[in-house]
Amino acid sequence: MTLKTSSIGYPRIGENREWKKGLERHWKGEISYDQLAKELKEIRLSSIKKQHEAGIDLVPVGDFSMYDHVLDATLLFGLEPERFRDLPNQEKRFAIARGTKELPAAEMTKWFNTNYHYIVPELNEESKPQLQHNHLLEWYLEAKEELGIDTKPVLIGPVTLLKLSKGQFDQQKLLDRLLVEYGKLLNELTKAGASFIQLDEPVLVLDQDESVMNDIKKSYQTLRETAPEASIWLQTYFGSVEGLHQLYELPLDVIGLDAVDGEEKLLAQLKANHFPGNKKLALGVINGRNVWKADEKRVKKVVEQVLASVDQSHLILQPSCSLLHVPVTLKNETDLSSDIIHKLAFADEKLVELKRFASRQWSEGESAGREATGAPVLNVPDRRVPYEERVKAQQHFNLPLFPVTTIGSFPQSVELRQKRRDWKKGQLADEAFQHFIREQIAKWIRLQEELNLDVLVHGEFERNDMVEYFGEKLEGMAFTKNGWVQSYGSRCVKPPLIHDDIWWEKPMTLEETVYAQSLTDKPVKGMLTGPITIAKWSFVREDRPSEHVFYQLAHAIRQEVLSLEKAGIRMIQVDEPAIREGLPLKKADQDDYIHTAVKAFRIATSSVQPSTQIHTHMCYSSFEDSMPMISDMDADVISIEFSRSHGDLLTAFSTHGYQNGIGPGVYDIHSPRIPSVKEMTAQLHKALSVLPAKLLWVNPDCGLKTRSGQEVLEALENMVQAAEQVRAET
Ligand code: GLN
Ligand code: ZN
Repeated sequence: MTLKTSSIGYPRIGENREWKKGLERHWKGEISYDQLAKELKEIRLSSIKKQHEAGIDLVPVGDFSMYDHVLDATLLFGLEPERFRDLPNQEKRFAIARGTKELPAAEMTKWFNTNYHYIVPELNEESKPQLQHNHLLEWYLEAKEELGIDTKPVLIGPVTLLKLSKGQFDQQKLLDRLLVEYGKLLNELTKAGASFIQLDEPVLVLDQDESVMNDIKKSYQTLRETAPEASIWLQTYFGSVEGLHQLYELPLDVIGLDAVDGEEKLLAQLKANHFPGNKKLALGVINGRNVWKADEKRVKKVVEQVLASVDQSHLILQPSCSLLHVPVTLKNETDLSSDIIHKLAFADEKLVELKRFASRQWSEGESAGREATGAPVLNVPDRRVPYEERVKAQQHFNLPLFPVTTIGSFPQSVELRQKRRDWKKGQLADEAFQHFIREQIAKWIRLQEELNLDVLVHGEFERNDMVEYFGEKLEGMAFTKNGWVQSYGSRCVKPPLIHDDIWWEKPMTLEETVYAQSLTDKPVKGMLTGPITIAKWSFVREDRPSEHVFYQLAHAIRQEVLSLEKAGIRMIQVDEPAIREGLPLKKADQDDYIHTAVKAFRIATSSVQPSTQIHTHMCYSSFEDSMPMISDMDADVISIEFSRSHGDLLTAFSTHGYQNGIGPGVYDIHSPRIPSVKEMTAQLHKALSVLPAKLLWVNPDCGLKTRSGQEVLEALENMVQAAEQVRAET
């Protein structure tokens, strides 16, 4: 017997990012809203058709969006922020997401532990949900009429929608009101013929207090009463559900669970409490957020164990989460070597795998898993001498109080980007490109000296992207041509693949750094991307535990650190902006991750001499819960984003008794505004109110790559003045 298959979400960007291109043409005024709607409808329908033709029984509708599915749900229930209410419908969605001249955009934040960002609903006491134009119904009917396919409408569930919202409101009152509208929606869809309606409640995988489970119980009991005919499919993903058996008692038709993230826990739960015979189980057996072929042995093991307690007719196979998080198709990857291609499965290929698993044509021995070579076994290494002694060993730098520096990158002109593209295409000779890069370095070393910065950088002109640059030079990483994934709005990223063991082959940054250092007597910081950030912004192989990959990357970066040191570079910065992103959703899993991340950073940085200064940089992080990790990393200096956070950040550092050097960013590099001397001295005073002067460094929030040369020069001139003023006061 063939098991039923389902998809719980599919990429919306199209095979060649038609979605992104359409949106951006519309925003530039090149195509009308109607034209855009027409183009997007084509993508929507062709995605449904493709999944149906792959043999998937239950194909989602409503996972598609003109921007973001959380924003869609907000609009569906008429919950848009007050300030946008009067805008015409065609402008409203994009205005909320992107802002207008007069109206600030709504906040955007990360969707659980993915790199997808959703628009945060803003609710308050006045919020009155009311079902609006029902695009779900429209799209459901459209697929039925135009393609003859009975799709499965998909929508974020009421409890998750409220949990992800911000603002002051009475949770229970609003939930009650919202449930009335969800009930109407379920009835409309059921009346139109929908066989199942999927409501996503990923909030169930977070650490919960009882209130979440209680809200879920109340919500789904209420929905059953108001929509007795609807077939309700409660879907979760990104981990296991604490107290899963409580869902068994609810009047649900299908429960969808992630059997990849949290696999062991789920199998244990299914063993402990029998899955109810009156419900179907939609089992997420294929990893929906990584790009590798599924390990057949693993899938077989999971399915067989589940079939021991769930009847075949009640089991549906599906990806572990929406395929939104993987690229669309391998079809266009003509440049990858065949041994890499053979390890990969993007969205379309995953559906093919799923269908094959459901038909139970197990082809033993073809498994993607490979023999594991031993992981580097190491204790957590350290710097040999404590920070206080390193400070003495580092006095040779002769730095003033409040040393002034930058985070690494300087502006990249149109000319530079063009030259790099030409060079990559083979249209510009290596020597010509290198010569150009050297000119840029020389120019900016001179400018930094004129500005009177204390610690200089070479500017990162040779790099297009801080992960890609290292990925291209390390063995074991590869790049796709078309492996795009939506990050936020129309913005897509193309993460590299870590497909094999990582090897450092030869120096990656020596040439530029040593050249820069040769031009000045001031210290030039070597600039590297840290192991965790490289891994977090890539698709990491799955046939090894992730910590092996972290440590392999760490060893590679360590070799680079040592070769810089050997070449006379005495300050080395290892950036870890993504380190906090990796923090697991559940508290119980966080310690292991922190241990691994710290160890990886220390493998990379701890073998230098005490007189060599290690810097690190983090941005976009909230540090309140990460202090122990940051302390343990034991960098001599950390620079962090500070200008947009509200003081509590530094309190975290002082309360924790952070003893090493720290550079709280004194201005926001994301804005073209030139910060005044006064506001930057104010930032420094704020820092001085909680931290001792001898620890403080002065720097911007982040790299300056996206700013114009003129903006950077003016801002840095003010920044140096601010440092001088504060020095004079102390
Ligand atoms: N060194 C990098 C730069 O300046 C750091 C970038 C980042 O933190 N994202 O561009
Ligand atoms: Zn940064």
